[in-house]
Amino acid sequence: MLEQSNDLKRLGRRLLTHAYPEFTERGIVIETGKLRSYGQVRWRDTGEFQIICHQDIIRWPEPAIIGLLAHEISHPAIEPNSSEEATDRDVIGRGLGYYLAVERAYVNKYDDHRIRGGRDRYLGFQSIRKLLNFHERSTLENLLEDFNILPRESTRPRLLHDTAIHDGLGQSILMIEGQAIQIERPQPDSEIKLLIRDEFLHVYADEEIVAQVPWHEE
Ligand SMILES: [Zn+2]
Repeated sequence: MLEQSNDLKRLGRRLLTHAYPEFTERGIVIETGKLRSYGQVRWRDTGEFQIICHQDIIRWPEPAIIGLLAHEISHPAIEPNSSEEATDRDVIGRGLGYYLAVERAYVNKYDDHRIRGGRDRYLGFQSIRKLLNFHERSTLENLLEDFNILPRESTRPRLLHDTAIHDGLGQSILMIEGQAIQIERPQPDSEIKLLIRDEFLHVYADEEIVAQVPWHEE
């Protein structure tokens, strides 16, 4: 278990150094906060990016945290193809698939979580496991045993998985569970918050509502 968000930063930096060499020169901020999802990644065309993890994440087993952080870092790594499946496959391609599998086991995504009416998906524990090589699969077995994590059938998730925000010129694009939401550029450091109520997803930037879209939780 991590002691505090400082450890989270250390974990993130280690991950960048070992698996995402293209990002080591870029300014990265990793912190915890109140979120409607487990993670949120936000990046600008100028290069710097920020990851916010749900405040409960520091109590997760370390391999699950690494899996979540890797997924978030892979979003800007593979843009402009920011589908969740492509993001997951990038994580696996970097040899971090067993961490991703632990994370999916931990958040009860045992089977694939289909989004956008089946056109995109978060890979579930089972699919990720099938994509691992022999060595990676045995590492996964060891991690599950060491951290006492039992993969099981999905139950309804309490939070969204994650949000990816690309701050471009004049506008920002939010990717939430495969749905792209375009908002007029909020202030660069504005705080983005999501609220799901009455079948609508409301997006706030610095407490001001900037988008509202129909939302049906899948
Ligand atoms: Zn994602």
